[in-house]
Amino acid sequence: MHIRRSIMPKAWTDAAITSFLMCMMPIIFYFNMFVVYPHFHGLWSCLHILYLISGTFILWNLGTNLIMIILCDTSIERMLVPPNSSTNWNFCSKCKMYVPPRSWHCKICNICILKRDHHCKFSSCCIGHYNHRYFLAFVFYMFISSIYLSLYDLCFIYDVVGFDVWITFVKVAFPLSLFFFPVTLNDLYLFALFFTSYASSFSFALLCFHMKNLIENRTLLEKHPECLVYDRGRLNNVKDIFGERWYFVWISPFIESKLPQDGVHWILNNLGKIE
Ligand SMILES: [Zn+2]
Ligand SMILES: [Zn+2]
Repeated sequence: MHIRRSIMPKAWTDAAITSFLMCMMPIIFYFNMFVVYPHFHGLWSCLHILYLISGTFILWNLGTNLIMIILCDTSIERMLVPPNSSTNWNFCSKCKMYVPPRSWHCKICNICILKRDHHCKFSSCCIGHYNHRYFLAFVFYMFISSIYLSLYDLCFIYDVVGFDVWITFVKVAFPLSLFFFPVTLNDLYLFALFFTSYASSFSFALLCFHMKNLIENRTLLEKHPECLVYDRGRLNNVKDIFGERWYFVWISPFIESKLPQDGVHWILNNLGKIE
Protein backbone atom coordinates (compact mmCIF):
# COMPACT_ATOMS: atom_id res chain seq x y z
CA MET A 1 0.00 0.00 0.00
CA HIS A 2 1.21 3.50 -0.85
CA ILE A 3 1.14 5.73 2.23
CA ARG A 4 0.03 9.37 1.83
CA ARG A 5 2.88 11.83 2.08
CA SER A 6 0.99 14.05 4.53
CA ILE A 7 -1.89 12.73 6.61
CA MET A 8 -2.52 15.94 8.54
CA PRO A 9 -6.03 17.43 7.99
CA LYS A 10 -6.01 20.44 5.65
CA ALA A 11 -9.08 22.12 7.18
CA TRP A 12 -9.85 22.77 10.85
CA THR A 13 -13.41 21.40 10.46
CA ASP A 14 -11.92 18.13 9.16
CA ALA A 15 -9.51 17.98 12.11
CA ALA A 16 -12.34 18.65 14.59
CA ILE A 17 -14.72 16.04 13.10
CA THR A 18 -12.03 13.32 12.77
CA SER A 19 -10.76 13.93 16.32
CA PHE A 20 -14.31 13.91 17.71
CA LEU A 21 -15.08 10.61 15.93
CA MET A 22 -11.83 8.98 17.08
CA CYS A 23 -12.55 10.00 20.70
CA MET A 24 -16.22 9.00 20.64
CA MET A 25 -15.72 5.46 19.29
CA PRO A 26 -13.86 4.08 22.37
CA ILE A 27 -16.09 6.13 24.76
CA ILE A 28 -19.30 4.70 23.26
CA PHE A 29 -17.72 1.23 23.26
CA TYR A 30 -16.83 1.50 26.96
CA PHE A 31 -20.24 2.94 27.87
CA ASN A 32 -22.14 0.13 26.16
CA MET A 33 -19.83 -2.72 27.16
CA PHE A 34 -19.37 -1.79 30.84
CA VAL A 35 -22.47 0.25 31.72
CA VAL A 36 -25.38 -0.68 29.43
CA TYR A 37 -24.86 -4.42 28.82
CA PRO A 38 -23.99 -5.30 32.47
CA HIS A 39 -27.23 -3.49 33.49
CA PHE A 40 -29.23 -6.06 31.49
CA HIS A 41 -27.04 -9.18 31.48
CA GLY A 42 -24.71 -8.80 34.49
CA LEU A 43 -20.97 -8.15 34.47
CA TRP A 44 -18.82 -11.01 33.05
CA SER A 45 -21.82 -13.22 32.32
CA CYS A 46 -21.57 -15.48 29.21
CA LEU A 47 -23.74 -13.06 27.23
CA HIS A 48 -21.68 -10.08 28.39
CA ILE A 49 -18.44 -11.79 27.30
CA LEU A 50 -20.04 -12.63 23.93
CA TYR A 51 -20.98 -8.95 23.47
CA LEU A 52 -17.50 -7.94 24.53
CA ILE A 53 -15.88 -10.19 21.88
CA SER A 54 -18.22 -9.11 19.06
CA GLY A 55 -18.00 -5.44 20.13
CA THR A 56 -14.19 -5.55 20.17
CA PHE A 57 -14.18 -7.07 16.68
CA ILE A 58 -16.43 -4.28 15.36
CA LEU A 59 -14.50 -1.50 17.15
CA TRP A 60 -11.23 -2.91 15.77
CA ASN A 61 -12.70 -2.94 12.24
CA LEU A 62 -14.02 0.61 12.64
CA GLY A 63 -10.68 1.91 13.92
CA THR A 64 -8.41 0.07 11.48
CA ASN A 65 -10.59 0.86 8.44
CA LEU A 66 -10.60 4.54 9.43
CA ILE A 67 -6.81 4.49 9.79
CA MET A 68 -6.45 2.76 6.41
CA ILE A 69 -8.70 5.38 4.73
CA ILE A 70 -6.41 8.08 6.12
CA LEU A 71 -3.09 6.36 5.35
CA CYS A 72 -3.86 5.02 1.86
CA ASP A 73 -2.67 7.27 -0.95
CA THR A 74 -5.26 7.39 -3.72
CA SER A 75 -3.95 10.54 -5.42
CA ILE A 76 -2.25 10.95 -8.79
CA GLU A 77 1.09 10.85 -6.91
CA ARG A 78 0.96 7.07 -7.05
CA MET A 79 0.49 6.94 -10.85
CA LEU A 80 3.11 4.71 -12.40
CA VAL A 81 2.47 5.88 -15.97
CA PRO A 82 3.58 9.26 -17.35
CA PRO A 83 0.87 11.95 -17.81
CA ASN A 84 -0.82 11.50 -21.15
CA SER A 85 -2.21 14.41 -23.12
CA SER A 86 -3.98 12.17 -25.65
CA THR A 87 -7.64 11.21 -25.94
CA ASN A 88 -9.71 11.47 -22.77
CA TRP A 89 -7.16 12.72 -20.21
CA ASN A 90 -8.03 16.11 -18.68
CA PHE A 91 -5.60 18.89 -17.86
CA CYS A 92 -5.66 20.02 -14.21
CA SER A 93 -4.64 23.65 -13.96
CA LYS A 94 -3.93 23.29 -10.22
CA CYS A 95 -1.69 20.21 -10.47
CA LYS A 96 -0.40 21.47 -13.86
CA MET A 97 -0.54 18.07 -15.51
CA TYR A 98 -2.81 15.75 -17.48
CA VAL A 99 -4.83 13.42 -15.25
CA PRO A 100 -6.58 10.15 -16.19
CA PRO A 101 -10.34 9.76 -16.67
CA ARG A 102 -12.39 9.70 -13.44
CA SER A 103 -9.71 11.74 -11.61
CA TRP A 104 -10.80 15.05 -10.13
CA HIS A 105 -9.08 17.77 -8.19
CA CYS A 106 -9.94 18.21 -4.50
CA LYS A 107 -9.77 21.80 -3.30
CA ILE A 108 -9.16 20.74 0.31
CA CYS A 109 -6.53 18.02 -0.33
CA ASN A 110 -5.13 20.25 -3.11
CA ILE A 111 -4.36 17.35 -5.43
CA CYS A 112 -6.14 15.24 -8.08
CA ILE A 113 -7.58 11.98 -6.74
CA LEU A 114 -7.75 8.78 -8.82
CA LYS A 115 -11.43 7.91 -9.40
CA ARG A 116 -12.42 10.59 -6.90
CA ASP A 117 -15.68 9.91 -5.09
CA HIS A 118 -15.88 12.64 -2.44
CA HIS A 119 -13.96 14.41 0.30
CA CYS A 120 -14.71 12.67 3.60
CA LYS A 121 -14.90 14.89 6.70
CA PHE A 122 -14.71 11.87 9.03
CA SER A 123 -11.27 10.88 7.75
CA SER A 124 -10.07 14.36 6.66
CA CYS A 125 -9.16 13.07 3.20
CA CYS A 126 -10.61 12.11 -0.16
CA ILE A 127 -12.22 8.79 -0.98
CA GLY A 128 -10.94 7.47 -4.29
CA HIS A 129 -9.94 4.34 -6.18
CA TYR A 130 -7.56 2.84 -3.60
CA ASN A 131 -9.31 3.61 -0.27
CA HIS A 132 -12.97 3.18 -1.32
CA ARG A 133 -12.94 -0.36 0.09
CA TYR A 134 -11.99 0.84 3.60
CA PHE A 135 -14.57 3.63 3.51
CA LEU A 136 -17.46 1.27 2.66
CA ALA A 137 -16.34 -1.26 5.30
CA PHE A 138 -16.19 1.58 7.84
CA VAL A 139 -19.71 2.78 6.98
CA PHE A 140 -21.02 -0.80 7.07
CA TYR A 141 -19.63 -1.48 10.57
CA MET A 142 -20.75 1.96 11.73
CA PHE A 143 -24.31 1.13 10.66
CA ILE A 144 -24.63 -2.35 12.20
CA SER A 145 -22.99 -1.28 15.46
CA SER A 146 -24.86 2.02 15.91
CA ILE A 147 -28.31 0.64 15.09
CA TYR A 148 -27.78 -2.12 17.65
CA LEU A 149 -26.30 0.18 20.29
CA SER A 150 -28.98 2.84 19.90
CA LEU A 151 -31.73 0.29 20.56
CA TYR A 152 -29.91 -0.93 23.68
CA ASP A 153 -29.23 2.65 24.81
CA LEU A 154 -32.91 3.48 24.37
CA CYS A 155 -33.95 0.58 26.63
CA PHE A 156 -31.22 1.50 29.15
CA ILE A 157 -32.31 5.15 29.33
CA TYR A 158 -35.96 4.13 29.59
CA ASP A 159 -34.97 1.98 32.62
CA VAL A 160 -32.52 4.34 34.32
CA VAL A 161 -33.57 7.88 33.35
CA GLY A 162 -37.15 7.45 32.18
CA PHE A 163 -38.94 9.37 29.48
CA ASP A 164 -41.61 10.84 31.72
CA VAL A 165 -39.97 14.27 31.97
CA TRP A 166 -40.26 16.72 29.06
CA ILE A 167 -36.65 17.91 29.61
CA THR A 168 -35.40 14.44 28.65
CA PHE A 169 -36.98 14.77 25.21
CA VAL A 170 -35.53 18.26 24.76
CA LYS A 171 -32.04 17.01 25.69
CA VAL A 172 -32.17 14.03 23.30
CA ALA A 173 -33.57 16.04 20.38
CA PHE A 174 -31.34 19.11 20.94
CA PRO A 175 -28.06 18.02 22.59
CA LEU A 176 -26.74 21.61 22.62
CA SER A 177 -29.47 22.41 25.15
CA LEU A 178 -27.38 20.41 27.67
CA PHE A 179 -25.34 23.61 28.12
CA PHE A 180 -28.39 25.34 29.64
CA PHE A 181 -29.10 22.73 32.30
CA PRO A 182 -26.91 21.45 35.13
CA VAL A 183 -25.14 18.41 33.64
CA THR A 184 -25.76 15.12 35.43
CA LEU A 185 -24.63 11.55 34.73
CA ASN A 186 -28.00 10.93 33.08
CA ASP A 187 -27.26 13.69 30.56
CA LEU A 188 -24.15 11.82 29.45
CA TYR A 189 -26.32 8.74 28.88
CA LEU A 190 -28.68 10.89 26.79
CA PHE A 191 -25.76 12.22 24.77
CA ALA A 192 -24.63 8.63 24.07
CA LEU A 193 -28.15 7.83 22.84
CA PHE A 194 -28.14 10.91 20.63
CA PHE A 195 -24.73 9.95 19.17
CA THR A 196 -25.65 6.32 18.41
CA SER A 197 -29.07 7.16 16.94
CA TYR A 198 -27.59 9.94 14.79
CA ALA A 199 -24.75 7.62 13.66
CA SER A 200 -27.22 4.85 12.77
CA SER A 201 -29.51 7.04 10.65
CA PHE A 202 -26.62 8.85 8.97
CA SER A 203 -24.68 5.66 8.19
CA PHE A 204 -27.87 4.01 6.89
CA ALA A 205 -28.42 6.89 4.45
CA LEU A 206 -24.75 6.75 3.42
CA LEU A 207 -24.86 2.99 2.93
CA CYS A 208 -27.99 3.11 0.73
CA PHE A 209 -26.56 5.93 -1.36
CA HIS A 210 -23.14 4.32 -1.86
CA MET A 211 -24.59 0.86 -2.57
CA LYS A 212 -26.51 2.29 -5.53
CA ASN A 213 -23.31 3.86 -6.88
CA LEU A 214 -21.37 0.65 -6.26
CA ILE A 215 -23.87 -1.44 -8.24
CA GLU A 216 -23.68 0.98 -11.20
CA ASN A 217 -19.91 1.62 -10.86
CA ARG A 218 -20.40 5.37 -10.55
CA THR A 219 -18.75 7.88 -8.28
CA LEU A 220 -20.54 10.74 -6.56
CA LEU A 221 -19.45 13.04 -9.39
CA GLU A 222 -20.52 10.71 -12.24
CA LYS A 223 -24.19 11.54 -12.69
CA HIS A 224 -24.21 11.89 -16.47
CA PRO A 225 -25.55 8.89 -18.50
CA GLU A 226 -22.18 8.80 -20.34
CA CYS A 227 -20.61 7.59 -17.11
CA LEU A 228 -22.47 4.26 -17.41
CA VAL A 229 -19.61 3.06 -19.66
CA TYR A 230 -17.79 1.81 -16.52
CA ASP A 231 -20.67 -0.47 -15.47
CA ARG A 232 -19.41 -4.00 -16.29
CA GLY A 233 -21.95 -6.01 -14.29
CA ARG A 234 -22.42 -6.28 -10.53
CA LEU A 235 -19.63 -8.74 -9.76
CA ASN A 236 -17.00 -6.79 -11.74
CA ASN A 237 -18.21 -3.53 -10.18
CA VAL A 238 -17.87 -5.01 -6.69
CA LYS A 239 -14.35 -6.27 -7.55
CA ASP A 240 -13.40 -2.79 -8.83
CA ILE A 241 -13.82 -1.50 -5.26
CA PHE A 242 -13.17 -4.49 -2.99
CA GLY A 243 -10.69 -6.39 -5.15
CA GLU A 244 -10.44 -10.03 -6.23
CA ARG A 245 -11.00 -11.34 -2.68
CA TRP A 246 -14.06 -9.13 -2.12
CA TYR A 247 -15.76 -11.79 0.04
CA PHE A 248 -12.94 -11.66 2.67
CA VAL A 249 -12.35 -7.92 2.97
CA TRP A 250 -15.13 -7.51 5.55
CA ILE A 251 -13.13 -9.48 8.09
CA SER A 252 -10.20 -7.08 8.21
CA PRO A 253 -8.73 -4.17 6.22
CA PHE A 254 -5.37 -5.98 6.36
CA ILE A 255 -6.58 -8.82 4.13
CA GLU A 256 -4.88 -8.44 0.74
CA SER A 257 -7.32 -8.06 -2.17
CA LYS A 258 -5.76 -6.92 -5.43
CA LEU A 259 -7.80 -4.41 -7.39
CA PRO A 260 -8.35 -5.47 -11.02
CA GLN A 261 -7.87 -1.88 -12.32
CA ASP A 262 -5.09 0.62 -11.62
CA GLY A 263 -7.21 3.79 -11.34
CA VAL A 264 -5.62 5.15 -14.52
CA HIS A 265 -6.71 2.86 -17.37
CA TRP A 266 -10.35 1.81 -17.36
CA ILE A 267 -11.99 -1.22 -18.93
CA LEU A 268 -15.24 -0.05 -20.54
CA ASN A 269 -18.43 -1.99 -21.22
CA ASN A 270 -19.82 -2.45 -24.75
CA LEU A 271 -21.48 0.96 -24.55
CA GLY A 272 -18.08 2.63 -24.16
CA LYS A 273 -16.36 0.47 -26.79
CA ILE A 274 -18.93 1.42 -29.47
CA GLU A 275 -18.31 5.08 -28.73
ZN1 LIG B 1 -5.39 18.55 -9.72
ZN1 LIG C 1 -10.02 15.84 -0.54
